[in-house]
Order: sequence, then structure tokens, then C-alpha cells
Amino acid sequence: MKRLRKILLIVISLCLLNITSVKAADNVEEFVKRLYVNCLNRQPDAKGLSNWVKALKTNEKDAAKVVEGFFFSQEMNNLHLSDSEFVERCYRTLLDRRSDSKGKANWLNKLAKGVSKKEVLKGFIDSQEFTNLCKKYGVRKGTIILSSTSSSKPTTSVSKPASTSSVVIGNDSINDFVERLYNNVLNRKSDSVGLNNWTKILLEKRQTPTQVATDGFFHSKEFKNRAVNNNDFVEILYKTFLNRSSDKVGKENWLKKLNQGSIRDSIIVGFAKSQEFNNIINKSGWKEASDKYISKELTNVNSLIIIANKKHRLSSSYEPKDLREPNVKKRGSVPMRKEAATALEKMFNAAKKDGITLVAGSGYRSYSNQVSTYNYWVSIDGQANADRYSARPGYSEHQTGLAMDISDASGNYYLTEAFGNTREGKWLKNNAHKYGFILRYPKSKESITGYKYEPWHFRYVGLDYASAIYSEGEEMTLEEYFGISGGGY
Ligand SMILES: [Zn+2]
Repeated sequence: MKRLRKILLIVISLCLLNITSVKAADNVEEFVKRLYVNCLNRQPDAKGLSNWVKALKTNEKDAAKVVEGFFFSQEMNNLHLSDSEFVERCYRTLLDRRSDSKGKANWLNKLAKGVSKKEVLKGFIDSQEFTNLCKKYGVRKGTIILSSTSSSKPTTSVSKPASTSSVVIGNDSINDFVERLYNNVLNRKSDSVGLNNWTKILLEKRQTPTQVATDGFFHSKEFKNRAVNNNDFVEILYKTFLNRSSDKVGKENWLKKLNQGSIRDSIIVGFAKSQEFNNIINKSGWKEASDKYISKELTNVNSLIIIANKKHRLSSSYEPKDLREPNVKKRGSVPMRKEAATALEKMFNAAKKDGITLVAGSGYRSYSNQVSTYNYWVSIDGQANADRYSARPGYSEHQTGLAMDISDASGNYYLTEAFGNTREGKWLKNNAHKYGFILRYPKSKESITGYKYEPWHFRYVGLDYASAIYSEGEEMTLEEYFGISGGGY
């Protein structure tokens, strides 16, 4: 019996020993794996991993030496990290968290003054937080020894990579903007691949801040899943774009717009176009003068800014689902999408108060309807002429359910340029934007819109865009405003 107990005890303690040693081994391996992922942005290769693990376990190297090996490796050097990215990686790798703005600013300030990256790394390594991290992974911490040449002398510093090229210098504001998108829109830290990619896209001006914010972040499933309400949505915009909390008046103003039916993207555009945001983002010399383009909304048939022109075709099967007949003076049936129809009623009523009688002439036209309309004009006028005022099927804005041809009560000037000189034509030109409509085909913009002057054709784009476009000048076109292609087929 005694012997059996003894054997049992030995077996149990052997098991325990085995478990603890396996656990310890895993921890060291995990410590090294983190370095690959956080510093180099990749999974470890088997050989590299086993070498570093071995060096740690045999006490050949301490954690500080290993970290130093990663941070000043050729591979990391090849990433050409900006100071901001470097500091962010120090936080992520050594403190296991993202930067706090005050702390980060402090480190960036030091780097800007010529403190070497090695010294900065040492600062992180000597911190209590990194001490705790080393305890957690069961590795010996150690420290970085600074040689006399590597301290505080940027020009002679051996540890400051010579590769800090002009491309990445001073773009912390872009980098920080992307980080804020992750933090506030997705409610998480950035991953380094994503952070790098979006920053690069912005720096190379392949996309504007609005595009990155909308298509990249706000339209993502990850954000949609958060199902934030309007109040939080606006607060997120303040934090992301302006790097501050909302002020009461400003926030109320944005909420009012949302409650009146403005789409969220138009609020994002508002922030992206604000002087305050541009001041922040231009701080490091990066300039993005015009920022208006929302790619996906322009091709999304359900949006109010869907583009239908000779370069952007609608599907032959597209028919808006929310068409209704506006309750206005009209010739025959003139359906429009619900929101546009309501706006049209408001506009016609307002005109009436000014003593102007408007008549709706043509609203939504189906694809097949456009086939006969177009063919009719071709038979009368020849194709070359017809193409200047009648759209080929699939290219007509009338298929969106957001356009209306309007005339005066007499109808004498319907679909003629002379309508622009009538009281009705003038009233529309000066007031339509107040109801969310724009004069879609201005004078002398045929090469841009693809259509000659049509003082009768008004397009609903919603209040925000209509007033924004109108404020750019009376000849402003959708194509120019959003920077998209137009003109001929
Ligand atoms: Zn029309």
C-alpha cells in the first residue's frame, strides 16, 4: 500500500511537472509570436520562432534584447514606419494596448527633437507595464544599453533608420485619423496591416477621407452590426473627424438634419468638408482640398445621389420600389420616388405662395418607356440630335424616379430653352435647392453632363446636397461636384 502511494505520488508530481513545463514553453513561444505579429505584421516562420524561443529559454538573450532584435531588424526597417507608427507599435508590442494621446504626443515630441528610436524603445522597456507583461509570459526582462553614440544625436544615431523617407515624414495626422476611424467607428484597435494600408491610400490620394470613412468604415458590416443610434453616430463623427467631443449647438444641428431625413453619408461629408477637420489633417503638410466623392452612394440605385448619365448606365430591370404620384398640378401620370414626390409637393406649394404656378410634365419613366421615347425622337430628329436631349434606354435620369420635367401653366414653353426666361423657370432656378432639387443640365455644361441646357429638368438629390451644390454656383453639375465622369456615350 505504502509503495503504491509512493508510486502514485511520483506519477502525479511527474504529471504536474510536465504540465508546468509545457505551459511555460507555450508562454515563451507566445511572447515571441506576439513580436512577429505586432512588429512585423506576419505569422512567424518555424525556424525564426524556434531560434528566438531557444535564445530566451537558454538565457542567451533577455526580452529586451529580443525586442530590440525585432524593432531594429532589416525586415522592420523595410517597412519604413513613420514616427507615429513606430510609437504605436511600441505601445502595442510592449504595453499590449493602443496609445493614449498624451503619452504618444510626448514620445513623438521626443523623436521630433532628435531622441533616437532606441531610446524611445528603452523607455517602453523600462516601464512597469512591460515588466508586468514579461511576468505574464514568464520571460526575463532585461534592458537596453545605450551606446554613447546613439543618444540624442539624430544625425549620428545608429539606431534611427536612415529610411525615414520624405513620404512618411510628418504624416502623423493621417495616421492618427485612420487610428481614430478604427477606435471610434469600429470600437477597436487598428490592426497594423489595415492601419498601414488606409494611411497609404490617403497619402497617395487614391481615396479621399470621405471615401475611406464611408466605404472603408461606416459602410462596413462591423459598424452596421453595432447598430448605433443617431446621437452616438454624431458623437462618433466628432471624435473621428474633429478629435473632440461634440459641442451642444453643433450636435443639435446635425441631429436635426438626420431627423429631417438627411442620409448619414451626407453628415459624414459635412464633417469631412469642415474647416476644423481640414485644419487638423493639413497640420502635417498633407492637403486634400476637395472632398466630396462618395463612390458607392453614386452607384447605389437606392441612394438619392445615384448617377445616371451617358457614362453611368442603369440596369434595364431597375424600377424604384417606392414610387408614388405627387399631389400637384400635372399632365397625366408623373410618379416619383416617395421622398422626391413629397419634396416636389412642398416646392409647388411654395411657388404658389409666390404667385407661380408650376406644372409637372414627366417624372419616372420605365426602361421600356424610355425605349419608345428615345426611338420617337430619333425618328423625328435623327440620332445625333436626339442624343443631345433624349437619353438612350438605361441612361435616363427619369428611370431613377428622382427627376421631373416642369413647365408653366400655359405649357407653351414646355421642353424649350425659353422656359428658362419665364417667371416660372427663373423661380425654379433660384429656389429649387431649398426643396432638395437641382437644375440638372445647366447652360454651357453640355460637355460635362452630356445634355444641352434643359431649364425644365430638375433632379432631386435631397436637401443637403442640393444646397451644397447650389452654393458652388448656379452652373454646378452633379458630375463636377462629385468628380465623376460624364459627357457623351
Ligand atoms: Zn427630363
